[in-house]
Amino acid sequence: MEFDHILIRYGEMALKGKNIKQFINQLQHNVQQKTKEFPNVKVKRTQGRMFVLLNGHEPEPIMEKCKRIFGIQSLSLAIKVDNEVEKIKEAALYALTQADNAKKFKVTVKRINKDFDVRSQEMNQILGGHLLTNTEGITVDVHHPDVEVKVEIRKEATYITSSVVPGLGGLPVGTSGKSLLLLSGGIDSPVAGYLAMKRGVQIEAIHFHSPPYTSERAKQKVLDLAKQLAKFGKSIQVHIVPFTKLQQEIFREMPDAYAMTIMRRMMFRISEKVCENESILSLTTGENLGQVASQTMESMHTINEVTNYPIIRPLVTMDKQEVIEISHQIGTYETSILPFEDCCTIFVPKSPKTKPRRDKVKYYESTYDFSQSIQEAIDGIETIKITDKKAVDESFSNLL
Ligand code: ATP
Ligand code: MG
Repeated sequence: MEFDHILIRYGEMALKGKNIKQFINQLQHNVQQKTKEFPNVKVKRTQGRMFVLLNGHEPEPIMEKCKRIFGIQSLSLAIKVDNEVEKIKEAALYALTQADNAKKFKVTVKRINKDFDVRSQEMNQILGGHLLTNTEGITVDVHHPDVEVKVEIRKEATYITSSVVPGLGGLPVGTSGKSLLLLSGGIDSPVAGYLAMKRGVQIEAIHFHSPPYTSERAKQKVLDLAKQLAKFGKSIQVHIVPFTKLQQEIFREMPDAYAMTIMRRMMFRISEKVCENESILSLTTGENLGQVASQTMESMHTINEVTNYPIIRPLVTMDKQEVIEISHQIGTYETSILPFEDCCTIFVPKSPKTKPRRDKVKYYESTYDFSQSIQEAIDGIETIKITDKKAVDESFSNLL
């Protein structure tokens, strides 16, 4: 006997009507996509539940995949047996013995199928007795059990579980439209992307790259971060913008104190163009309040002037420490702290304005025509598709 199913529980039932249907369809699709490397796996739905049928595959690697899918509240390994008392007894015993450190247990029977002629209460007693007589050193404790053996008697079969693993929660990626993530090589923007994805947003990424000031490895770092994010959703298109010329022009032609602000405005302008081409309706950034010069309220106000696209800033109210914790959890921290410079760290003005005003910035921008360099940057965009597997290597063969 062995666990042959994964039971998926999904929450967010504040969703109503059509939304629920879309949510569940998307979740099923995402689970299918993430498990398609296991050829025999099937993903099925029955009233309010989703099951992954393992069909002979080892459960662990598939559980690992499912733990990274947004929209799942919790997961359990399950055994499916026919609606027969003897079979249910045998499976319940197996489930109990598979649980770690089980000293105290409880059996909970749910009889959804009222045609099954043993009632829940009686079934509870039968199973409790069976488990007690066939194990040693384990007692019943209905209030503080280490293990709850759950038995759901449904129409088509009975499912038995003995452990619950928390899922990531959130909404299935793909249920909330698309956003363009401004992805630097830092700690913040990958976390911002992750949090947007958690709310069901599918992301594409844009990165501003300034060779030779920024190296090929700095770019690879960004692709690696995208790959890590792709583990939580679909493959990610990364748009690499050649930013050197425009950036040099900004720093040559604009007052030093305003160069940073103007550079950020250029990033938003170019990002918006990419959104138009890709039918994306919002931007996502790792901006935060009060960290550095470019992240004051005044600065945000001035930078934001160039676009009326919604900007998702999931980190805006977070403490740095909270952001760092999430980056550890999602596996981006180690890559983010690699020392390769990004375009912003190289062209840092000595004393950037911490309260740049819109009118001044607008005036300075009007003294020089950047349009050609902006267009060149857009025309030079290289787009790389990153999946959660070998995509980064593939991307390099694309470059050759
Ligand atoms: P991060 O840790 O994400 O680099 P940060 O704390 O360094 O952020 P800033 O340098 O002010 O903050 O950047 C703010 C946001 O602007 C970043 O979170 C990112 O969304 C975007 N950004 C900055 N540099 C780039 C870049 N080279 N390419 C794409 N987006 C960028
Ligand atoms: Mg940064």
